[in-house]
Amino acid sequence: MSKRDYYEVLGLGKEASGDEVKKAYRKLARQYHPDVNKASDAEEKFKEVKEAYDVLSDDQKRATYDQFGHIDPNQGMGGAGGADFGGFGDIFDMFFGGGGQRRNPNAPQRGADLQYTMTIEFKEAVFGKETEIKIPRTETCDRCSGSGAKSGTKKETCSTCKGSGQQEVVQNTAFGRIVNRRVCTTCNGQGAIIKEKCGKCHGSGEVKNQRKINVKIPAGVDEGSQIRISGEGEAGKKGGPPGDLYIVLRVKTHEFFEREGDDIYCEVPLTFTQAALGDEIEIPTLTEKVKLKIPAGTQTGTYFRLKGKGVQRVRGYGQGDQHVKVVVVTPSKLSDEQKNLLRDFSELSGEHTHDKHQSIFERMKKAILGD
Ligand SMILES: [Zn+2]
Ligand SMILES: [Zn+2]
Repeated sequence: MSKRDYYEVLGLGKEASGDEVKKAYRKLARQYHPDVNKASDAEEKFKEVKEAYDVLSDDQKRATYDQFGHIDPNQGMGGAGGADFGGFGDIFDMFFGGGGQRRNPNAPQRGADLQYTMTIEFKEAVFGKETEIKIPRTETCDRCSGSGAKSGTKKETCSTCKGSGQQEVVQNTAFGRIVNRRVCTTCNGQGAIIKEKCGKCHGSGEVKNQRKINVKIPAGVDEGSQIRISGEGEAGKKGGPPGDLYIVLRVKTHEFFEREGDDIYCEVPLTFTQAALGDEIEIPTLTEKVKLKIPAGTQTGTYFRLKGKGVQRVRGYGQGDQHVKVVVVTPSKLSDEQKNLLRDFSELSGEHTHDKHQSIFERMKKAILGD
């Protein structure tokens, strides 16, 4: 089943503002909330809307989505189906007020999302990388499968609250009978009691684990890029789906290359004679060395473009360019012979009659004189 575009789900354009995202979500959530809409596909639609909203309402997640789309390097690792069960609770609070009372203590809850920051080398961002990370996270206890009960035993429905997790307390006051609802004290709102606890998780149903996760970083990622690994967040509760793992990338700087989007920038030195007479020089690019022809009379600060020598785009085809800025280095240590040659040169040049420069000198003189 291919996923629909999040913007399409909410009926918005890519440029929609945060407010528009919120408005569209509220409208659609009201329309499809399973408690209001009894159509068989309402729940599915509701989840789709909620998921789209979760991403588009979060600036970082939205930026990642805009860049990568439904990226999921570890496809098939779960997640996708049970999008966001825990979200039902929130919507009760939002639209129906007093959500707490409606919440079923035994309803599945989605696990929390985890975030992991990874620092990679400049070229790893350009070419991608496959690596393994270890993250501490909460997982469902494998001994009791998350029930918290010792194997061979079962949870029992709380007899005080009959499984609702809520207790009614009736008070007779001068104004009449007041019925208060509060969390069941017998089961702490869980709705069930574990008679014999699992020896591994001591009844919580979850254990802390160091989890090894294989991460595929696609070529072309950049500083701040996020990779979502679906289903690798914290374990869900009561059979709910796990959260997602977000890997946020930090990219180290390079001593020669700089990057702006898909384009690479670098600076190379030229001697005065190379700039004046022209030359062919070798330029390092991300993958190889290439020859660059410097025409005679090149000015310092001139940019040359090496087409297609930039970074490969994460989505779609194409590649950025490499921009080479040449900087003419003025010699600082000259022998007497060199100095004499330069003096001769200056005389031959006849006081900077070079046309292009002449105008610059003229303009500068005018500026000084306050013309
Ligand atoms: Zn109870
Ligand atoms: Zn256990």
